[in-house]
Order: sequence, then structure tokens, then C-alpha cells
Amino acid sequence: MTADVFPPRVGDRESFSAALIQALPEAAVVTDASQRIVSVNDAFTAMTGYAAAEAIGRNCRFLQGPGTDREQAAAIRRSLQWNAPFRGRLLNYRKNGEAFWNELAIVPVPGPSGPVTGFVGLQRDVTESVDDRAALLALLTQTERERATLGALLDVARLLGQEVSTDTVVRSVSEVIPELCGADRSAVAIWDGDTSRLTIASATGWPAGLAERMERVNLSPGESPELAELLVQRQPIVIGAQSSAWARDALERFEVASFAAMPIHSGGALRGLLLAYWTSADKAADLDESLSARLSGLAGLTAIALDNALLLEETHWSAAHDSLTGLPNRTTLERQLERALEQANGRAATAVIFCDVDGLKRTNDALGHDAGDQLLKEVARRIRAVVRPQDTVSRVGGDEFVILLAHVDGEPEVEDLVRRLEDALAAPLRIAGRSLSIRLSMGLAFSSDPLVHLPPSAAGTALIRAADLAMYQRKSRGASPLSGAPLGRLQRLAADLPGALGRGELAVHYQPQLDLAAGETVAVEALVRWTHPVLGPVQPDEFIPIAEMNGDIASIGEFVLHRALADISALRRDRPGLGLAVNVSNDQLDRRGFAAGIAEALRSSGMPFDALTLEITESKLPADRVVALAELSELRAAGIGIALDDFGTGYTSLAQLRDMPVTELKIDRSFVQQAVSRGPDLIVGIVGLARGLRLRVVAEGVSTAAHLDRVREVGFDRAQGFAIARPMGVAELAGFLGR
Ligand code: C2E
Ligand code: MG
Ligand code: MG
Repeated sequence: MTADVFPPRVGDRESFSAALIQALPEAAVVTDASQRIVSVNDAFTAMTGYAAAEAIGRNCRFLQGPGTDREQAAAIRRSLQWNAPFRGRLLNYRKNGEAFWNELAIVPVPGPSGPVTGFVGLQRDVTESVDDRAALLALLTQTERERATLGALLDVARLLGQEVSTDTVVRSVSEVIPELCGADRSAVAIWDGDTSRLTIASATGWPAGLAERMERVNLSPGESPELAELLVQRQPIVIGAQSSAWARDALERFEVASFAAMPIHSGGALRGLLLAYWTSADKAADLDESLSARLSGLAGLTAIALDNALLLEETHWSAAHDSLTGLPNRTTLERQLERALEQANGRAATAVIFCDVDGLKRTNDALGHDAGDQLLKEVARRIRAVVRPQDTVSRVGGDEFVILLAHVDGEPEVEDLVRRLEDALAAPLRIAGRSLSIRLSMGLAFSSDPLVHLPPSAAGTALIRAADLAMYQRKSRGASPLSGAPLGRLQRLAADLPGALGRGELAVHYQPQLDLAAGETVAVEALVRWTHPVLGPVQPDEFIPIAEMNGDIASIGEFVLHRALADISALRRDRPGLGLAVNVSNDQLDRRGFAAGIAEALRSSGMPFDALTLEITESKLPADRVVALAELSELRAAGIGIALDDFGTGYTSLAQLRDMPVTELKIDRSFVQQAVSRGPDLIVGIVGLARGLRLRVVAEGVSTAAHLDRVREVGFDRAQGFAIARPMGVAELAGFLGR
């Protein structure tokens, strides 16, 4: 039995239709748009003698017979054809052949957004009173009331076909109660299972003072025998002056003579109460069968509508949030950012802070994913505690959070916030019985920078990317400022980078590496250079991250490799032992076939495999990247050297180092430079560790004579830095080597 009478998009159409008509005290029939019966209620079966199964699928005409007035039957058909409501009397026949006068009220049911999807008919056997004019009149009034009832129920029913919120359901139901029950005022209370209390969620028809009193209602079932009884049973009860002290007090407080309450149950669980109130003693309700049936019917519909609304809210919620931390997700962030930029309209500044949790992977590896989850939740909590209530904190990736700050006064305000965030995260976290220290790497971007030519949606994504980039740059080069290049410059660079290679704007420079024992240059590191036609020289620290995000890094990497192989092979004719180091980004490593490509390039350049070292950065180790690890192993097996660049800035553990196909550690310049000022302890340890693992140790950023003395003393194999030579073009390098 499926028919498009009511098309609830969520929930159960049949239970809906059945609940609707069972709620009616009169015989009722639901048909689809072609007037075929889809359901009937028990009162219909009682009146006609036809069971539901005998009626379903048929046209209501089957009730007609030899005595039925043709004209009248045609009138019904006509009005239904035009989707108009019909009211009238018709001679019908019961299953046992007995004729009866059927007082009919038929209304079309529009779908949620327009066309008629079926009809609902109310029927009443009026045979006994058909000759009595007064009785007929009363009957017609009665039918009129039923139609109003039906209309009210249909209002609730329509909610089932729409995507509405719990609030809307509760409000609509509350509005329907007075009409449905002939009451003066109404309310809907919602049950909170966590606190075991009822609160009024919507109230209709109350004068201002009482409405406020109503809003504060917060009941516990222990407060009165009536409430306790209500919550367990499934029938309405009426409370009048004869009830408990609690009830009398309630009547007095709300200035009513009586009220009826009907619990709303869904599945086995209590969801709330429907409440109908009568103000005067003469109207005060007594619980007749009809009121009881209406309230029960409405409660059934309300339960379905509430379930649907909740399901929808949950669906919407989970589409907009990260389930682990409960924070908004990227989609929501982008929408809110767009709105913030629209509202600011270039006048107020919007800031975005991109945060990356350093140490999540370590926690996951060491303590398991549950601990990692706990860590993320705690980080989310601490961030939330620091920002303003109006700020949006969202989780956009595994260990990435983005904070959106609308209407900020200026950079100092945000930089202050960043400092407070750093402080908040500095205190160790207690996770799985352990005390963990983590760090947030943060990057900032401001909308104040010219964004005018970007629509808010594009500006939003550009802002997030800019903050991400600033974070990334800071992370790989600790000293970078909190906010990266102005957005305008970033956009420009990002737009111009893809064509740079083709326009010949990229070049490769070489920085010599000194063998500390032999005192001579034994290798060079290839470093890419970009000369922008308008902006001039752009540092790799600025454009490599852009290339990594844009996907341009693969072609740039290939260019650097080929150029460097060609240049250095040529120089090797005079300096046969000269080695070459080339930087490789993670993106390149993650592609299958990377190792094969390198091998191919080496073969065609004629350079021996062991003269090449590839530098990969430690801060983004490929420990959990299967492809990268396989490619690295393949390279290593071919005799190519692998260096861990910027060592000391990441979190490589000894165990990881041992398991990775690495031949060299390049100690980050921050450590090398500290070694002079703060004493050698740490660096001595690192060099010792490298020796134990039979790795070559190279010091980078050796920029003064003092650094050079120190690294020699500590036992480094090689040194690289301004103190020896700056990066230079190939011609200059030839001169440098020839000296
Ligand atoms: P890196 O691989 O750690 O390269 C060393 C960086 O330190 C170079 O910066 C170099 O110019 C700089 N440097 C060398 N000696 C000193 C010194 O004494 N003092 C100071 N303060 N700095 C020194 P550069 O050329 O700006 O490159 C920055 C980073 O960009 C590189 O860091 C590398 O990670 C990346 N990079 C450069 N070329 C390429 C490339 O062709 N491919 C990829 N994937 N990354 C590249
Ligand atoms: Mg390097
Ligand atoms: Mg380095």
C-alpha cells in the first residue's frame, strides 16, 4: 500500500496516514489522487462492515447502490475532479446490503508544495436523524467541526512532509490544540531525559504576564501524582479543581478552570506533553471520548513529526560538524567566513588563524587512537575557552583547526589572542594517565589586505589558504612572522607561479658543502630561484609552499633535478667526486614512479647514482605514507643518498630513524646557531646519535666563523652556510670550485 497521499520525505508514510485517520472519531477514508482508497479507520469498518483489506485499492463508489441518487454521485465526482472540497449526503450500502444515509465531508490534500496528492473523507451514518431538521442541523455543525479538526490535523500532517525544525513542530502543534480541542489556550512541553524534567517549549493564546510564567515552567514528575501518572500512561487526563493541591495551585497560577494533558510517546520513550487549557468553569473540559481521541491522535502525529525533525536536525548537524569535537566543520566554516566577509563589506577586518597540532601523530603512535581523540577534544576545548564567544572554532582536518574572528580591530588584537592560545596549550595535557606536551603551530591571515576584486566565497577560501600557508611557512622555518605575505601578494604569486617555468623565470642556484676533515667542497645543494617579472626575486620559502599546494611542485621539482644534473655532470668533468643534493617535496614522493623517474634522469645524465642525495624534510616525515616509503626504499636500494633535511624541527624518534632508508642528517640551522650561543649539549647528542646509526651529519646555516669552528669541533662531517659560500649560479660555482 503505497500512495502519494502524503509525501513525508522522512519517516513512515503509512504509520502517518494510519495515525491521522485513527485519530478521528468518525469513519474516515484516505485516498490517493486517483481516488483509490489507501487507508480506512476502524470506525469506517464498524459503519460499513467492510474490513480495511476489502476497501483498500477501491474507489469509494463501491459503497453506492441502486438507490443512490445519480445526480448527487456525479456532483461528488465533479467536485473531486476539480480538487474542491465536497460536503453532502448520499445513500450508501453496507456490506450486508443495508442502505444508510452517509453524511460526507471530503477535502483534498495538497502535497507540501502544491498539487493534490489525495483526499481525506469523513463519513457519518445519519440515517436515524435524516428526517429530523433540527438534528440534521446539529449534525451539519458537527460535521463542520470535524472538518476543522481534520484541517487542524492536516496542518500537523503537512509538517511531516516538510523539512522542519523541532521548534516549528512544537509551535505548530501548540497552535493547533485550541482549535482541535475547543480549548482557550495551549502549550507543548518537552521532556528532557537527561534531567528528567519537562519544560514548556511553546505556548499559544496566553496573555503576556501568563505567557512569561508559562515559559519558566520546569516540572519534575515527582511534583504531583497527576504528573507521575501522566508520564507512564498513554491516555490524556483532565485536571480540574477536584485534583491534587499541586493541580489546584497550577490552575490558580495560570488562571484557568481546567486543563487536559496528553503524553507524547515515541517508541518506548516519553517525548513531552500536549496541554489544552480552559479558562471558564462552564467550558471546563470533561474527558469525553472525542477529546480523548483527538488528543491521542495529535500526540501520535506530533511524535512522528518530532522524530522526523530530530532526525533532520541530527543529519543537518552532522553534515555541519565534526563528530569528534562537536566543532563546526570546513563547510560550515566556509559558509560563516563568507557571511562575515559579506557583512564586513571591506569595512571591518576579518581574521583567520590556522592551527596545526604538532604531536598528534606521536600520540596516536605511542598511546593509540583513543588517546589521540582525547587530545583533539582537549585542544578543541582549550581553544574554545580562549576565543570570544562570537568567534568560530572549526576542525578542518585531522590535526587542523581554523579560528574565524569577525570584526577584529587590528593585528595586535589577534596577535595577542595567538599568544593567549599558545599559553593555553602550553600546560601539559593529561591523556590516558600520561602528561603530554603539545604545540600549536599557527598562521594568520587578515581580510584587510585588498580582497576587493574577490567575491566573498573566493575571498574566504583564499583567507584560509593564506593562513594555512603562513602556518606552513612558520612551521618549516621557525622564524617566519605569524602572518605570511599579504593576501594580494599571495594571490599574485599563486596566479603567476604555474607559468613561471614556461616563461623561464625559474633558475637553479648551488650552495657548496664543505667536507670538514678534508677542507674542500665535496658537494652542492641545488636551490631553486624565481625571479618574478614585477615583484623581483621571490624566496623558495615563500613560493615552494604555494607550489606544494597548487600541485606545481612536481614540474618544478623535475625542472630542478634535470637542470642540476646537467649542470653538475658538466662540472664533474673537472671535479669527478662532486656530489649533488636536491630537495624533494612530499607531494613528489607520494607519487608512484617517482624513484623510477629519478633513476631514468640519472642514467641519461651519466652521473653515478651515489653522487646524488635527495633531501626530504623531517617535519613532514613519510612514516605513515606507504607510497613514499616504498619510493624511498627503491631509491636507497639503487644507491641514491637520502638526507633528512631540517633535522631537529620534527619529531623523528630513534626507532623511526632506524627503520627509514636514510643516509644523512642535515641539522637545522636553528640548532647549529644555538650550539654556539647556548653550549653544545644537544648538538653533541644528535651527532652522537647519527654516528651510532652510521649516518652522515651535515650542519646547515653555518653563517659565521664561530659556527664553523664549533661544528668542526663537535664532529660534523660537512658544513653548509654563508660562512662558506652563498648559493650561486652555475657559472659562479665553476669559478668558486676552480679557486
Ligand atoms: P633547505 O633545503 O633547508 O635549504 C637551505 C636554505 O638555507 C636555503 O634557503 C639557503 O639559502 C639557506 N641558507 C644557507 N646557508 C645559510 C646561512 O648561513 N644562513 C641562513 N640564514 N640561511 C642559509 P633557500 O634557498 O631560501 O631555500 C629555502 C628552502 O626552500 C629550502 O630549505 C628547501 O626546503 C626549499 N627549496 C629550495 N629549493 C627547492 C627545490 O628545488 N625543491 C624543493 N622541493 N624545495 C626547495
Ligand atoms: Mg635542503
Ligand atoms: Mg634545510
